[in-house]
Amino acid sequence: MRLYKAEGVVIRGRDYGEADRIITLYSRQHGKVDAIAKGVRKPKSRMRGGVQLFTFSSFLLYPGRTLDTVTQCEIIEPFTLLREDLTRFAYASYLVELVNSLVPERDANEKLFFLLLASLHLLTREDPEVSVRFFEIRLLSLLGYRPQLQNCVQCGKFVPDKSIKFSVRLGGVLCRDCSPEDKSAFSISKGALTVLDQLTKIDPRRIGRLKISVPMRQELERMLCEYILYRAERQLKSLDFIFNLRRLVTEKETHKEIN
Ligand SMILES: [Zn+2]
Repeated sequence: MRLYKAEGVVIRGRDYGEADRIITLYSRQHGKVDAIAKGVRKPKSRMRGGVQLFTFSSFLLYPGRTLDTVTQCEIIEPFTLLREDLTRFAYASYLVELVNSLVPERDANEKLFFLLLASLHLLTREDPEVSVRFFEIRLLSLLGYRPQLQNCVQCGKFVPDKSIKFSVRLGGVLCRDCSPEDKSAFSISKGALTVLDQLTKIDPRRIGRLKISVPMRQELERMLCEYILYRAERQLKSLDFIFNLRRLVTEKETHKEIN
């Protein structure tokens, strides 16, 4: 077996044994790869920085039966801010957990790889919530799960601006006539759908120009997160983390106002 190269983002990592770390990379060349990095928790290890969560590095790997072994790694982009700022850390954790839970092993997808990289960059400088919505809708499209947002997912008819419902189970909007098809479908505004459509087309460098109201953010979050959870068929720890963090921040602010 031969050494191979991979450029990838560390999307999961846990300490193992005395000084090792087991990581999952999402790499440009090979998709998701599990590997062990030996001795990297020793203070003098040269690979220490390159195997940290969210870091984009160039790896040299040796294939193994269950786990490959990292023999060399060099940092390309450390994404330090994503580990230092708690809010950004929470959102970045969600991004990588989505890749972990929705993307199959060893399935290279260059578009998805560049989407992940672009979104991590966005998270370092743009509104984290908007950056994550951008990632979600594009990830869904790349995986073939893009929700049907223009015409009714049931009958195919054009859905007028009012009384639009979104069905998580059917994966799209429902017109008034078809809304009884899914009792759990919830209302969604035309405005929110327009923003979502913009997110699928926008150049990520222009994302800061999108102005999204608070109610619309809530609509988009509910719609995308519920749909993703349905697709993932499991709970996402990082999503609970985001919600708990938000609750803490709100409580703190309320407390400040009272005192
Ligand atoms: Zn319909």
